[in-house]
Amino acid sequence: MIDIIIIGGGIVGASMAYELAKYQLNVTLLEKETELSFGVSKSNSGIIHTGFQDDYNSLKGRLAVRGNFLYREISRLLDFPFIPTGELVVAFPGEKESIEEIKENGDRLGIPGIEIVDGEWLNKNEPMLSKEIEYALLGPTAAVINPWEVIYAMAENAISNGVKIYCDNEVHSIAKINNFWRVKTYQAEYESRYVINAAGLSADKISFMAGIKCPIIIPYKGEEFILDRHADRLTKRIVFPVPKKHTKGILIIPTVDGNTMIGPTSNEVTDKEDITTTKKHKDEVLKAAQKLAPSINEDLLIASFAGLRPTTREGDFYIKEEQNGFINIVGIKSPGLTAAPAIAEYVVNILAENTTLPKKKKYNPKRKSMPRFRLLNTKERNTLIKKDTDFGEVICRCELVTKGEIKEAIRRGARTLDGIKFRTRSQMGRCHGAFCTSKIMAIMSEELEIPFDKITKRGQGSELIKRNEL
Ligand SMILES: Cc1cc2nc3c(=O)[nH]c(=O)nc-3n(C[C@H](O)[C@H](O)[C@H](O)COP(=O)(O)OP(=O)(O)OC[C@H]3O[C@@H](n4cnc5c(N)ncnc54)[C@H](O)[C@@H]3O)c2cc1C
Repeated sequence: MIDIIIIGGGIVGASMAYELAKYQLNVTLLEKETELSFGVSKSNSGIIHTGFQDDYNSLKGRLAVRGNFLYREISRLLDFPFIPTGELVVAFPGEKESIEEIKENGDRLGIPGIEIVDGEWLNKNEPMLSKEIEYALLGPTAAVINPWEVIYAMAENAISNGVKIYCDNEVHSIAKINNFWRVKTYQAEYESRYVINAAGLSADKISFMAGIKCPIIIPYKGEEFILDRHADRLTKRIVFPVPKKHTKGILIIPTVDGNTMIGPTSNEVTDKEDITTTKKHKDEVLKAAQKLAPSINEDLLIASFAGLRPTTREGDFYIKEEQNGFINIVGIKSPGLTAAPAIAEYVVNILAENTTLPKKKKYNPKRKSMPRFRLLNTKERNTLIKKDTDFGEVICRCELVTKGEIKEAIRRGARTLDGIKFRTRSQMGRCHGAFCTSKIMAIMSEELEIPFDKITKRGQGSELIKRNEL
């Protein structure tokens, strides 16, 4: 019998798996997509917020601050980049009072190091920002990460500690039978003492499946636009305008990989699958970003994407043990990425109220990241090539990704072109995979022993080649 089933393999589900792997528990994670991190968690700004923009009385405010703290240690143990950029909420004339209120909220949350800086400080430290900005609230604890990299790192560590993860397993039925839950997917049937619902945009659907009421999820779409890495870094820090009621506004985000990103928009939509981007919203984002940093120009944009925030009318995170061992984690919009490790800790505390949770005697706290050829110096590159000549064969020219890295990504669980893209950065450069996709497909075909027409971009239905075209 399984002790705990986690439904959903986004940042919340992966954080749950990572945290629960520390205990003597039989844990299984079920994910409907072909790989982890293909839900909301792959399409966001990648910011580990300070937490000062969320009310000090809210669960999301408290969990964001705690999550920000936890990420520092987790990134060290699991060897993923956590770049402490810091953040600024900038005030144009007439807006100083708003940033003072945010500071007061941050002080109540106990966030360290926050201070209001003036125009002179901004001129010296962030010269690309508009000269009209008079003040800014500086939050030094903000950082950026690659969300999918964190998810894969947590999953690899959880698996090494005995957690079972099954992708391509969409849950369609949940029933309470005596003192356990029967969870059915289209592929298999599982029985478990506890169910943790971390299904993101479908968390309300999963809860209703189990006959439990919870807040309804309303998707809020956010469109983001990425600037060429070859363009100069615009800002060192993440830059926010003064927030509006439902959104933190359109930001400038220095990403882990050296690009700058601008966005996101925030618009309620009805379709939970709608991740299109539009010219109208591109123009809106450009205009808002140019107000912050006037030198941003349209020619620098190389890519765009959209994600949907799982929002509720109630606004705060809804995390609760409902009847008989069913734990709902619902409405995890921003700052969900930031809060995720703290959400996992919070849920473990809920579990500990009714069950004993002995720690594993043999627990492996670490995980090593894959080699990144692009980031190595010549000596390190030569050493790697000497060990394995596949690291001497460049597959993606734009991002300098080698055959060795593609094979390593597959070894670590990549089963789709997107899975390889997220793990290696291949296909993410200026040519968007025009040069490397067919080469990557050849490696996948050989390593996974599957024909070309079974290779997909992101799971069944996204095959690139049809059999009769071969
Ligand atoms: C544009 C945008 C920008 C954002 N920026 C930030 C930011 O900078 N910082 C921050 O802290 N937060 C940010 N957020 C919020 C953050 O992305 C989310 O809070 C977080 O990713 C939610 O994670 P999750 O695990 O709950 O959801 P998901 O990542 O969606 O995971 C849920 C998983 O459940 C799976 N699932 C669904 N139904 C089933 C089923 N029936 N059976 C099995 N599996 C199922 C899905 O496939 C999915 O993989 C942003 C969000 C958006 C949209």
